[in-house]
Amino acid sequence: MSTASQTRTRSEAVFSAAQRLMPGGVNSPARAFGAVGGTPLVFERGEGAWLYDVDGNRYLDYISSWGPMILGHRHPRVVEALHRQVDRGLTYGAPTEAENELAELIIDAVPSVEKVRLVNSGTEATMSAIRLARGYTGRDVIVKFAGNYHGHVDSLLVAAGSSAATLGVPNSPGVTAGTTKDTLVLSYNDAPGLEAAFAEHGPRIAGVIFEPVVGNMGCVVPSEAFLTALRKLTTKHGALLIADEVMTGFRVAYGGAQALYGFEPDLTTLGKVVGGGLPIGAYGGKAEIMDHVLPAGKVFQAGTLSGNPLATAAGIATLRTLRDEPPYEQLEHLSARLAQGLDDAATEHSILHTIARVGSMMTLFFHSEPVTDWNIASRCNTKAYSRFFWGLIDRGVYFPCSQYEALFVSAAHTEQDIDATLAAAREALAAKAP
Ligand SMILES: *Cc1c(COP(=O)(O)O)cnc(C)c1O
Repeated sequence: MSTASQTRTRSEAVFSAAQRLMPGGVNSPARAFGAVGGTPLVFERGEGAWLYDVDGNRYLDYISSWGPMILGHRHPRVVEALHRQVDRGLTYGAPTEAENELAELIIDAVPSVEKVRLVNSGTEATMSAIRLARGYTGRDVIVKFAGNYHGHVDSLLVAAGSSAATLGVPNSPGVTAGTTKDTLVLSYNDAPGLEAAFAEHGPRIAGVIFEPVVGNMGCVVPSEAFLTALRKLTTKHGALLIADEVMTGFRVAYGGAQALYGFEPDLTTLGKVVGGGLPIGAYGGKAEIMDHVLPAGKVFQAGTLSGNPLATAAGIATLRTLRDEPPYEQLEHLSARLAQGLDDAATEHSILHTIARVGSMMTLFFHSEPVTDWNIASRCNTKAYSRFFWGLIDRGVYFPCSQYEALFVSAAHTEQDIDATLAAAREALAAKAP
């Protein structure tokens, strides 16, 4: 698989043109490779576990379009469902039977969801969920955790993860102090801190939003004490618990992190896998709360293309496949092998590291202690990660272009793919710092 003669001249030309046309040459910041330096690869095709760039190089894909492609690229059931829908029109702006089916699949899968509303992105889902939490409780304050990313919602763009963390702009210009004054930022996995915040601000807190497994400061695992405190304190103080499962939903388990860990949030946000690669988001929860959304209730939320037939078709095909032929055991097996192999390789080359993994989400952190919050995550050796990243690219393996993004194993990966990835990783980690 090693492609020593790899050239990337066409990627460079396309990206150079892109920089004259789009801010930073991209439509979403992480893609610009700011965290690892160098020129982004420009892709033209995906097939199973592989991505093909415009120079004709191929790469084993561990980004999965940042999560959605859990079945791999061009899964036949998803492709077929899309073709079938294209032949019947693209969008009607009116109810369809397929929306019922996707809603039912979500409700059946995600334990705490009794009613659901489809939207067009994860950002829309979290934005709508916090509006609902505020509308329902009649309170203003939302609690979030440093290093957790909930999309580019103004009031949640404080101490945000993902590219906000990578680029060191956790507080974006354009987000006013007025907008964020009702956002309380706490440390992840800090149950005593949460308790103290409720003791001080309890009657003003509408809800707590969190990533039940963090993906957006690299993969960070929740402690049992933290999950318990979240549910107990929100219930005690009449605030809503909002699990942002945009990344973890249908990823760490079919029913998401709440099924895996056995906790019951009041509201859940979904995205990524739920659209099978098309733009989608969803938020849902107890019927009694969801019925406060317009037109059943008074909390406004709308969307021209919400529940659009193409995204709905791709979502249904993806969820049905995940339900009928669950890949989760195989994902666990391959992911455990990958994590163990990366751990061994880093140990062999005396590299300070720690690995966090939940199912098919994981991160090799270039840091010696377990990463439990953003304070620790922010001290990783990001230069070492960048070298590792480019060493893998040279060997045909596409890992996340930032230390602070989780990698994903997909159902299209094979034992041989994992072997090849580990061989590439051993070589990349052996390469000495310049
Ligand atoms: C990706 C992500 C979002 C934002 O979703 P978009 O579709 O990019 O708007 C929100 N929350 C979490 C946990 C995510 O991983």
